[in-house]
Parts: sequence; C-alpha cells; structure tokens
Amino acid sequence: MVEELSLEDLLTKVEKGELKLHELDKVLGDSNRATEVRRMFLERFTGVKLDNVGKTVIDFNTVVGRNIENTIGAAQIPIGIAGPLRVIGDYANGLYYIPLATTEGALVASVNRGAKIITEAGGARSKVINDGMTRAPVLTVPSVIDAVELVNWVNEHFNEIKSVAESTSRHAKLMSIQPFIVGNNVWLRFKFTTGDAMGMNMVTIATDRAIKYILSNFPKARLVALSGNMCVDKKANAVNFLLGRGKTVVSEAIIPKRILENWGVTAEDVAEVNNRKNLLGSALAHSFGFNAHFANIIAAIFIATGQDVAQTVESSMGITWMEPLDNGDLYVSITLPSLEVGTVGGGTGLPTQRELLQMLGVYGSGNPPGTNALKFAEIVAAAVLAGEINLVLALARDELARAHEMLGRAGKAISK
Ligand code: NAP
Repeated sequence: MVEELSLEDLLTKVEKGELKLHELDKVLGDSNRATEVRRMFLERFTGVKLDNVGKTVIDFNTVVGRNIENTIGAAQIPIGIAGPLRVIGDYANGLYYIPLATTEGALVASVNRGAKIITEAGGARSKVINDGMTRAPVLTVPSVIDAVELVNWVNEHFNEIKSVAESTSRHAKLMSIQPFIVGNNVWLRFKFTTGDAMGMNMVTIATDRAIKYILSNFPKARLVALSGNMCVDKKANAVNFLLGRGKTVVSEAIIPKRILENWGVTAEDVAEVNNRKNLLGSALAHSFGFNAHFANIIAAIFIATGQDVAQTVESSMGITWMEPLDNGDLYVSITLPSLEVGTVGGGTGLPTQRELLQMLGVYGSGNPPGTNALKFAEIVAAAVLAGEINLVLALARDELARAHEMLGRAGKAISK
C-alpha cells in the first residue's frame, strides 16, 4: 500500500517517475502529507531548504480541489492595519480597521493618514451604484444576417434563457444579456447578480448552461469560446470601465478647510495635483487608471481577505475627482467601476483571510444574501479614498520621496 510507504520510499518512487507529483494527494488520501512529500522532493532536486515555505496554518485537505493543486506550502505576507476609518454606506456604518497585506513600506502609513483625515472630516460616504458579474462567450454564425437573427432570438427568449441559467445556482440571477457583433461573430455579455460571492465560477457555470440551451435552439450558431474576452476578466479594459463589472462603487468625502490648513495646504493646491497628475497625466498616458494608486489598496486588501488577486487589474481601474468648494473645503471622490469582491467562495474561507473578513463584519453569507459583499465593497472603496487623499496630499506637500525614504528603507536614507 502506497499510504504505508515511508517518506524515503515515496520520494524514491517520485524520483524514479513511478509516481507523479500531482498524483500524491489522491494516492496518499492526505493533501498535508502530499504537500510535505512534494516539498522534500523539491528540496532534494534543487538543494534549497524550504522550511519557511512549509510553515503555515493552512490545512491542505481543505484547499486542494477548491483553491489550488500541487501544493508545497504557503507564502506569508505581513499584514498591517489602517484606521479607524469612518464609513457611511447603505450597509457599512461605523469605524473600521482596514487590513492591508503588503511589502511596500509606507503604504499602510499612507492609508492610515488618509483614514484619519476622512474620519476627522466626518467619514467617507460609499455607495454601490451598479452590481453584476459578467461572462461573455463568443459565437460564430455564417453571416451578419444570422448574427442579427441570433441576437433577436436571444432577446425574444430572455425569460427562458434566464430560468435555464438560474437553475444552476441558488444565488445567480440573470440581469441582462448584452450583444456585440463584429462581422459574423457575436459576443453575448451575460450579467448576473451573485449574492455574496464574487461570482466568477457561478456565472461561468450558469452561462455554459444558457449557451447550450441557445445552441440547441439556434443550430446555425457555433460556440467558439465560453469566455470571449468581452467579459472582461483580469485584463485592463474599456468595457468594464464603462459598463461595470462586479460592484461599481463611489466613495466621497468633504475635507474641511481647517483640516487642510493643518496640513499646510489649500483645497486648490490638492485639486491641482489631482487635475494635472491624475486626470491630465493619465489622459496623456492613455491610462485606465485616472488615479494615484488605487491598485496599492486593492491588491493589499485582496491578499488579506482572500479575493482573486489577479482581478486587481480591472478592480483598480477608476477615477479620482477633486473639487475645491466655495467655502475653501475640498470635495473628493473615487469611482471604482469594476470592483470584484466576495465574502463567500474563492479564498475567503482560508484561515487568516476568514478572520480578517470577520473583523470587518462581512464574512460569509449576508442577511439577506448579497448584503455582506455590498458592505465589503463600500468599506474597500472608502479605504481606496483614504489612500488616494493621502497620496495626493503628500504630493501637494512634496513629501512623497521623504516618506518612502523613511518608511520604505528603514529610515536609512532620511533626507536632511
Ligand atoms: P464559488 O465558491 O465557486 O461559488 C460560491 C458558492 O457559495 C456557491 O456554491 C453558492 O451556492 C454558495 N453560496 C452560499 N451562500 C452564498 C451567498 N450568500 N451568496 C453567494 N453564494 C453563496 O465562488 P465564485 O464567487 O462563483 O467564484 C470564485 C472563484 O472563481 C475564485 O476562486 C476565483 O479565483 C475563481 N475564478 C474562476 C473563473 C472561471 O472562469 N470559472 C475565473 C476567474 C476566477 P449556489 O451555487 O447554490 O448559489
């Protein structure tokens, strides 16, 4: 019996090619033991000790087949907190400490100072203005005539397609199917609400079922790919920017003149940096990010809370808008068109990630379902606003390089 073989015997079998590395979980019936054997194989193969990679609180039996394959251990990233941050949303209401997993010195301090400014100013008002996860298969038909016929058929049979798609999940609800035609190609962009899940697996399964139903009724069409890149997942793009994907969220605040004066700046000073850098500079660069550093906060929260980190790409697109008010106060807002977050599914149930979602009061299914993910989106947007206010303020005060010298290089190069 393979399960009864010693570690040495198992390693020998792997080295001889009698056992494949990825077969160890199944053969041993224990992913923790399989993880150890793979790590030891790698240590012998490379001559590098992997003691630290092996230290983790994760039970691999709970993640293999769900989150990962061929495990050898875990990466550890330090987590800091920024806050308290006052958030005033439709679901989030109160003071929150934001968990940020990062190795960029000065990032946590930056969000922390932004949170202090926002909280002193009365809080960040956050609102989800659009909600829906998308999947857009690409189909091909003989001609543009058939393409239009297909789109008409889909529109006329929306309710039937909806009930077929929704039969795959208790939470996926089909909102719309938006068509795009190029020559004899048709993209059908399915959009679902997905409860508290980010929803990518859910909508992929539901769309697959819906497409099979469409093809059985419209045999002239052929499916080329279930994902036709108009979804758009894990790529910077204009579609999500304009039409939204996941949660479209705005977070805004008014920073009083007296707080700005304490920092030695005026509303005009700060707004000028935003206009010339975030708007004009980004226009010149043809950037999808008309902002200073949304990706910093999004990536750090995503890692800390078990989100799909590759979705940082489109989740951190967006615009920072700042406007000096007549009374000397400053209106600030951030808009995230495509924030893809969930509080169930994916990596949210991993040990440290779950604790941090619990700390924010959003772990698991909301009551009613969907409200935890909406609350989480409001908190994330407020944290992005905090990071943005601070960095633009720091640039207006010409203190960016100094902060990074002090906090990113252990204070070794502090400018005099
Ligand atoms: P999931 O874990 O695959 O699905 C969520 C599960 O939670 C469903 O079984 C759902 O049940 C259940 N659930 C329980 N309570 C819920 C609630 N309140 N709201 C919503 N669902 C609830 O997660 P997912 O968000 O759909 O997919 C996320 C995963 O997809 C991540 O691991 C991500 O990395 C991966 N991903 C997949 C693709 C792809 O193409 N498939 C692409 C990118 C990323 P019901 O099904 O009955 O509703």
